[in-house]
Amino acid sequence: MGKLADLIPKLYSHFDGVPSSLLALFAMIALATAFELMSIGWRESSLRNILIYREGRGTDILMALLYHFKLLLPLGILMSGGLIYVLLKQIRVQLPHPLAWDLGHPVLSTLAFLIVLDFFRYWWHRAFHNFKVLWVLHRYHHSAPAMNFLNTFRVHPLEGAIGQLWLMFPLLFFGAPAPQVFAAQFLVSFHGLLCHSNIKSDWGWAGRWLVQSPAAHRIHHSTQESHYGKNLGSTLVVWDLLFGTFHWEKPEAVRAIVIGLDRQEVGQRPFRYVARVYLDFLIAVKTLAANMFRQQMQFWRRT
Ligand SMILES: [Zn+2]
Ligand SMILES: [Zn+2]
Repeated sequence: MGKLADLIPKLYSHFDGVPSSLLALFAMIALATAFELMSIGWRESSLRNILIYREGRGTDILMALLYHFKLLLPLGILMSGGLIYVLLKQIRVQLPHPLAWDLGHPVLSTLAFLIVLDFFRYWWHRAFHNFKVLWVLHRYHHSAPAMNFLNTFRVHPLEGAIGQLWLMFPLLFFGAPAPQVFAAQFLVSFHGLLCHSNIKSDWGWAGRWLVQSPAAHRIHHSTQESHYGKNLGSTLVVWDLLFGTFHWEKPEAVRAIVIGLDRQEVGQRPFRYVARVYLDFLIAVKTLAANMFRQQMQFWRRT
């Protein structure tokens, strides 16, 4: 048992719980694939969606590979001009070790930690929907034209790097994760894969009150305007219920949902699309800075 506990942190990356070894990744995807095939069959499955050529498949595969060869974070750091590296380094020095927040029982400590992490994830996601400059980056995740497991990794490198930085804050207060946190993160990641699968179930009362269901996340990816910014939680439903972003639809309405918010990707090579979104982000930052400067000047002139 002790050996297993030592092994878990080696298999799963620190903060998002996504396996950092290909073996662990394949095991997780194989498990999710089996679950999806049993639920909805081959015709609608993620596996078929990935194996048969379709628009956007290249981006899905590229991002999954970049993520698991640990190239996504360096790319995001590069895009931030090194700023995120400096900040991550500063915060890492401050991290308490081992888990500073001990509730006396490993399961209780793990659950509490995951709830806090999920809370931080909710606000990270909400910020990326609410601020135009951040939405330019997050639109990349919403560009997926069809739901499949690999959409989980379709995160723009710069958004991923900003997310790593943001998720450092709960660690500052609650310490570095213990082995059981990594184990629980496996379940969180597995759940994330299912939410991006082609399963359209709302999971009944569990999806209504406890954990995000594939139907809820399909609503989140919908192109329909009334669905924008709904179901922002990663794992738990509680934050959406508390902060007014929960949205539920009847099963037939969920099945009719159209996915894919950003049509810029159509006809673009995967790397070019990453660069295109980055360029859009730089333009959005420049516009924001210019507007702020203009407002400040007008304020000074008036006073
Ligand atoms: Zn989103
Ligand atoms: Zn998603």
